Amino acid sequence: MSCPHPFSNTTTGERPAGRFAPSPTSALHIGNLRTALAAWLLARCSDRRFVVRVEDLDQQRVAAAGGIADQQLRDLEALGLDWDGPVMRQSERLDIYSDALAQLPTYPCFCTRREIAAAAQAPNGVQSWRPYPGTCRTLSHSDRQRRARVRPAAIRLASEVSGWQVTDQARGTCLGQVDDVVLRRNDGVYAYNLAVVVDDGVQGVDQVVRARDLWPSAARQSHLGHLLGLPEVRYAHCGLVHAPDGERLSKSAHAGGLAELAARGVELPRVRAALCESLGLPAVDDPHELLADPDVTAALTPPPTAPDPSGTPGTWDDPSSSRHSDAPTAIPQPAASRHAPPQGKAPRPVDAGPYRDSESSSRLGWWSDWTAPTW
Ligand SMILES: [Zn+2]
Repeated sequence: MSCPHPFSNTTTGERPAGRFAPSPTSALHIGNLRTALAAWLLARCSDRRFVVRVEDLDQQRVAAAGGIADQQLRDLEALGLDWDGPVMRQSERLDIYSDALAQLPTYPCFCTRREIAAAAQAPNGVQSWRPYPGTCRTLSHSDRQRRARVRPAAIRLASEVSGWQVTDQARGTCLGQVDDVVLRRNDGVYAYNLAVVVDDGVQGVDQVVRARDLWPSAARQSHLGHLLGLPEVRYAHCGLVHAPDGERLSKSAHAGGLAELAARGVELPRVRAALCESLGLPAVDDPHELLADPDVTAALTPPPTAPDPSGTPGTWDDPSSSRHSDAPTAIPQPAASRHAPPQGKAPRPVDAGPYRDSESSSRLGWWSDWTAPTW
């Protein structure tokens, strides 16, 4: 019998899971609640478990928000969502991130944010595609010792690839940038990109539903998961919810949660109905009623993507092909993949913009952006 992987529970025979993983730094606004409902539905309708995780690694920000994690969980319950097993809290799991970090090729980085920004813009004619220009990667041992006396180091991945293929349930297979991502910040806090990958592995998550502004980070995270020996994750990036004034919801005065809506006289059934309709689903009192509706699976299936106006070839969704490109070439360079894509086909570069629907009448669904009501 093979030994279970330390960061994966898929060898225990449990069904794979979908998840919702809020940061307890502000009340769950209508956009967060829409994503939670979509994640719950996509998991339940595909016979997955549904798990909840509190992403509270940044204890300073969590404390500043006044300990609202429990309120977030009560809001999910009020919406009618349920989950399997105990809620995982990242702050209680620092040892496992340390173990994961020890398995990865890394180097210390002493750069300040300002230095990284300046290096990326250096007018030296060499256009580096890497968001992090690799400044500290080749420091000598003595340079590292000298710089460590002045400034604590962040820990970065020493990445061997420049791109990685990831699959989104609406957008198909895309090729995203991979760089020497920070795994532990220089204040000792484990980076979101590491923690999220390790936790998804431990919780048996193979379906990640979250807002589309996180789509560009999927390639880095999928690559880290590969390095840690974890199964591939399939993504479903939801559309963004805009405030009625057109602002991003998180930046808007409309970002209040259920409690604020209730204080304004907007009762829970109205919120729930609006969320269902925003996903192209009938308004119900209890989301479990949707699971019994034979039409829901079709309603959760996105329409085909519209052709890319930039002329980029269509998606390449051949599961027999290698996921990654390992040549240090600029992105997009899908020809750098270990196996050449089918003739005339290449993975799309990651585009986190609104989902472009090829059907003439755009259907509302988890993939579509949505404007919250004025109530
Ligand atoms: Zn550096």
